[in-house]
Amino acid sequence: MVKVSRIERNSIADQIGIQPGTELLAVNGRPLSDFLDWEFLTADEELIIEARQPDGEEVIYELERLDGEPLGISLEPPSVRRCANRCEFCFIEGLPAGLRKPLYIRDDDYRLSFAYGNFATLSNVKERDLERILEYRLSPLYVSVHATNHEARKVLLNNQRVPDIKAQLARLAAGGIQFHCQMVIVPGLNDEVVLEESLNDLWNMREAVLSAAVVPVGLTQFSHLYTGRKMDRDTAREILRRVERWGARGMRERGETWVFGSDELYLLAERELPAPEHYGEFAQIENGVGAVTSLRMRVADGLDRVTRRDGQRIGVVTGVAMAPLMAPLLERLAAASGAEFELVVAENSLFGPTITTAGLLVGKDILTALADRHDLDIALIPAETINDDRVFLDDYSLEAVRESLPMPIFPSYDFIDVLESEASGVLA
Ligand code: SF4
Repeated sequence: MVKVSRIERNSIADQIGIQPGTELLAVNGRPLSDFLDWEFLTADEELIIEARQPDGEEVIYELERLDGEPLGISLEPPSVRRCANRCEFCFIEGLPAGLRKPLYIRDDDYRLSFAYGNFATLSNVKERDLERILEYRLSPLYVSVHATNHEARKVLLNNQRVPDIKAQLARLAAGGIQFHCQMVIVPGLNDEVVLEESLNDLWNMREAVLSAAVVPVGLTQFSHLYTGRKMDRDTAREILRRVERWGARGMRERGETWVFGSDELYLLAERELPAPEHYGEFAQIENGVGAVTSLRMRVADGLDRVTRRDGQRIGVVTGVAMAPLMAPLLERLAAASGAEFELVVAENSLFGPTITTAGLLVGKDILTALADRHDLDIALIPAETINDDRVFLDDYSLEAVRESLPMPIFPSYDFIDVLESEASGVLA
C-alpha cells in the first residue's frame, strides 16, 4: 500500500476524484508495496487502480491516458529500510548526540540507491528484492562494496550474515544491471591485497561496473566503534598507486579510467589532483571524486561572468582540507572582479578537528569565523553546509546566522554563482 500526499490541480487524478490521504492498493491487479511498484506499474496507458479513500470506502478507478501524461499524484515519503550492519567506520555512529533525529537514520535501501543515488550495501536484500531489481531494471545501482572478499567484508560491515557481494553483483549484472561502486578503505583491513582482489573482481565484471570510487575512512571525534588504524599519508599514497594502476589499465584497454581515488585521498597523500579528463563524466562527484577539479573548471569557465566589485573585501569561508587549494582560485577571482578576497578557514566545532571538509561546517562555525569581521563587505559560505530548508547540521538556520553577522553572507557552490549576480554586489 502507498498513500497519496498531494494531488496536482486539474491533473488526471484530480479529475477522477482521488484525494490526498487515499491509500493506493493495487494497479492492474498487482498489489502495491511501495513507491517503486507504483512508479513501474503505472507506466501503462490503461490503468485499473484499486484504492481506499480516506473515509475507508474502497473504490476502483479506471483510466486511460496518453503516453507520458502525468497522473498528478505525489506519494507520502517511503519508510526507509534500515541498515543491518554495524561498520566501525559508520559516520552516523560518529555523530554527536543531540542532532535532528533523521540524521541518525542508518538507511541501507536499494530503492533509494536507484531513485536518489544513495549508496547501499545490499546486505538486507532478499530474494524478492533481487527479483524486483531485475524485473524493474533498477539500474544503475550505487553499491557500497568495500571489499569483494567475503570474509573481509564481514569484518568491515561487522555483520557475519552479510551475503556474498560478488554473487549478488554477478547475478544482477547477468540481468543487465549496472553499478557505481564505492570502497571505504580501512587501513589494515581492505587496503593492499584485499583492495587488489576487489579491483580485480570489479574489473572482471566489465561493463557492469560503470565506476568505482576509493574513499579513505573518515572518522569524527565521536567514532566510538572504530578500532582500526588511522589513514596516513603513506597508506593513502599506496592506495592511490593501486587505484591509478587499475585506472590506467582501464584507459589503455577500455578508453576510460573507471576507478578513482576520492579528492580526500589525494589530499591525504599530498598529491596534486588529476586533470578534468581523468574524471570522464564525473560519475561520482557527489561522493567527493573530482569535486575540486570540477570546481576549478567552473571557476575558469565563469570568470568572464563575474561582475566588477572594485574596492570590495570578500571573505570566503572554507574548511581546513580545502584551504591550501583555494589561493589560486581566489587570485583569479580577484583579477576578474577587482575585489580583494580573503580566505577564512573555519574549524569544525561539532565533529572535531579530524573533520576538515568544508561541507560539514556548522552554523556555529560560520558565526565564530565571521562574527568580528566588520571589515568584510560580503562573505561566501559553502552551500553544502545547509539543507533544502536552509538549516545547518547543528540546527542553526541560515537566516539566524545571517542576522547575527555584520556582513551579508551567501551560500555558494562555486563562487561564480554568487559573484555573477548583481544582487550580491550591493554593499551592506
Ligand atoms: S552500512 Fe555501515 S556505514 Fe553504512 S549505514 Fe550501515 S553501519 Fe553505517
